Amino acid sequence: MIPLRFPTRVVNIGIVPLGGNYPIRVQSMTNTDTLDTTATVQQSIRMIEAGCEYVRMAVPGIKEARNLQNIKDELRRRGYKAPLIADVHFNPNIAEIAATIVEKVRINPGNYVDKKKKLDAGYWMLDTNYKRELDDIAKRIAPLISICKDRGTAIRIGTNHGSLSDRITERYGDTPEGMVESALEFARICNAFNFHDIVLGMKASNVKVMIAANRLLVERMKSEQMNFPIHLGVTEAGSGEDGRLKSAIGIGSLLADGIGDTIRVSITEDPEYEIPVAYGILQAAGVRFTKTEYISCPTCARTLFNIQEVLEKVKLRTGHLKGLKIAVMGCIVNGPGEMADADYGYVGAGKGKVMLYKGQEVIKKNIAEADALEELIKLIKENGDWVENRDA
Ligand code: SF4
Repeated sequence: MIPLRFPTRVVNIGIVPLGGNYPIRVQSMTNTDTLDTTATVQQSIRMIEAGCEYVRMAVPGIKEARNLQNIKDELRRRGYKAPLIADVHFNPNIAEIAATIVEKVRINPGNYVDKKKKLDAGYWMLDTNYKRELDDIAKRIAPLISICKDRGTAIRIGTNHGSLSDRITERYGDTPEGMVESALEFARICNAFNFHDIVLGMKASNVKVMIAANRLLVERMKSEQMNFPIHLGVTEAGSGEDGRLKSAIGIGSLLADGIGDTIRVSITEDPEYEIPVAYGILQAAGVRFTKTEYISCPTCARTLFNIQEVLEKVKLRTGHLKGLKIAVMGCIVNGPGEMADADYGYVGAGKGKVMLYKGQEVIKKNIAEADALEELIKLIKENGDWVENRDA
C-alpha cells in the first residue's frame, strides 16, 4: 500500500500556511551577513524569484535580530511577501526580538538555554535533575512563547544530530531516539503553554540517521497525539551531484513514506541553486508537480528511433504542461505496459512509425515519425490538456 501523507495540523507562517493538505513548501537560507541589509535583501529576492517560499536567515546576535526589521521592510517595500524565518539556535533574548519581527523563529533544542555544564557522569540520569532542568527550560522559553502567541509567530524546534544537549546524550545517546526526545521535550512544554504553532525538524548529515529520526518522530508524535508539521533536510550535504543525491535520498525516502511538510536542500552553493533541486525532489517523489512528468525507456536493441533526440524534442514543446505525464517509449513490445500511468504515450511502432496513446488506448496508429510530435500535440489539444506556453 502506498503510504498516505502523515496528517499534520496547519501552522500559519505569514501568508504561506504549512502542513495539512497544503503543498509541501520549499525553503532555503541566506548565506549573507544578516547585518548587510542590501546583500541579504538582494539574495532573498533571487531565492524568492527561484521559487523559495520561506526565506530563513541566520541570526547570531542581538544586532542581527534588530536588523531583521530593515530587511523585512525593504523586501515588503519592493513587493516581496515571502515569510521570513530567523535561525537563532541558543539565545532566548535574540529569539524574543526576532519573534516580534519575522513570521517564524527556529530554535535548536540541543543548545537553547542548556549551556554545556560540567557535571558528574550520571547527573542527568537522575530524574530529579532532569525534571528540574525541564522546569528551568519552561521558565526560560515562556517569554518567547508569549510573544509568539501575541504576534502569530511560529516556532521550529529544529534538532541537529550534531548538537544534542548533554542531558539528552547521557540519557538516550547520540541516537535518533535522542534527537526525537530532544524535540519532544520542547514540544511538550509548548503544549503545556497551549501553544501549537510549532514545526519539528530532525536533521543530520548522515542520511540513514536523518531518515530513522524522522520516522521515529512520526511514531512518537502519534503515540503522544501530536501532529506538528515536519521540516526535512540533510545538513552539510556537500555540493554538486553528491549534495543533490544525499538530499534526494534523505528527503525523498521520507516523502515516499508520507512524511514532510516543508523541505530545505542544503548544498554548498548559492541558495537560489537549492530551489530547483528541491522542486525536482518533490516532483520525483510524486508529491508536488511543477513541470511535466516524463516516462521514457532506457532503449535497447528493439528501439527503432533515436529516442534521446525525440525525447528532447517532446520536452521542448511540452515541458510547460505542469502535472501531465507523457511517455516516450522505444517499442510496442514493452513500451505500453511500462508507461501504465502516463496520460499520453509516444511509442515506436516500426521503422519510422509511431503509435500515439491516450492513457492505455492507442489513438493514432503508424504515424510517420516526421509528423508524430505535431500529432501528439494535436492529441493533447483535442483532449483539452494543452495550455499555451507563455514563456516561449
Ligand atoms: S520499451 Fe522497448 S525499446 Fe524501450 S527498453 Fe523496453 S523493450 Fe527496449
